[in-house]
Amino acid sequence: MMNLESLPRFHLAEFPTPIHYLESFSKALNGPAVFMKRDDITSLGMGGNKTRKLEFLIGEALNQGKDTLVTAGGVQSNHCRLTAAAARKAGLSCHLVLNGEKPESSNGNLLLDQIFGAKVHFCERKDRERKLELVADGLSADGNEPYVIPVGGSNSTGSIGYVNAMFELETQLRNMQLQLDAIVFATSSGGTQGGLAVGAKIINFKGQVLGISIDQTKTGDEPFPPILAEIATTTARRIGSSIELNEEEFALNCDYLGAGYAIPGDMEFNAIRDLARYEGILLGPVYTARAMGGLTDLIQKGYFTKDQTVLFWHTGGAPELFAWANQLQAV
Ligand SMILES: *Cc1c(COP(=O)(O)O)cnc(C)c1O
Repeated sequence: MMNLESLPRFHLAEFPTPIHYLESFSKALNGPAVFMKRDDITSLGMGGNKTRKLEFLIGEALNQGKDTLVTAGGVQSNHCRLTAAAARKAGLSCHLVLNGEKPESSNGNLLLDQIFGAKVHFCERKDRERKLELVADGLSADGNEPYVIPVGGSNSTGSIGYVNAMFELETQLRNMQLQLDAIVFATSSGGTQGGLAVGAKIINFKGQVLGISIDQTKTGDEPFPPILAEIATTTARRIGSSIELNEEEFALNCDYLGAGYAIPGDMEFNAIRDLARYEGILLGPVYTARAMGGLTDLIQKGYFTKDQTVLFWHTGGAPELFAWANQLQAV
């Protein structure tokens, strides 16, 4: 395997991110010891998991002489907000294709996109991929050098950030003399899970690497396991590793999809209040509150035992909170 240090990478934040023991939360649930890896507080633009991916994506963009980042996501996309912030730090322009309606007044991540000076293009969800191409083509026609980042930054370049994150975790666990039975996190476009799974296999991690799906399903028109296998295997090849991951090797829970993507309900709002009131830590309604709500339910059902240790990998998203103020302020 090649040394990851030799890959083009643009510094965006301080690593390692801390690991915190959630003492009050763990005791209240009377289940396993729950630790948290704080990728929500990576130091750029209000933090989140896309920072690790963007370090490698922007490294590649700069290496290729690009001058403009173009990416897409939902109106409250954390990925788009962090791409907008990272572009500024790297001296690049940024265009965002956001699917959804332009709200009367901007809030949450959309407000931050605008503060970071990104150019925002709205479109319908079904037109997103085409619109992304059109925007990139328009930029090229005007003499710019666009670098297109896929939704969520989930390709074999972005995912290297999470292979590296697994190596970072290994060092921290060794120093803390901590052994984990499971790592639990929100999964959606697959780059985080794909990278973590590759890293876990390389370091021979013995615990479960369990993605709680936010919107993906195991079956249907676009089943998620083949997508994960593709991201993981291409990422491994990119870093010169011959490991392959097949669909069955991913631990994936799709039981907490609620009413759909970016439609939080009672489970999510309760998870936000619980973690805020036990630990003073904030979750985001779209991703991390759903994953934490799922983990809480699994613990309550006895999926993990009291003598086990679980790490919740906090992937960020608190800036989404303000877009759901109406639902959250209800007592
Ligand atoms: C994007 C995102 C995820 C999901 O990560 P993927 O790599 O897309 O699967 C989880 N949590 C938050 C807060 C995110 O913004």
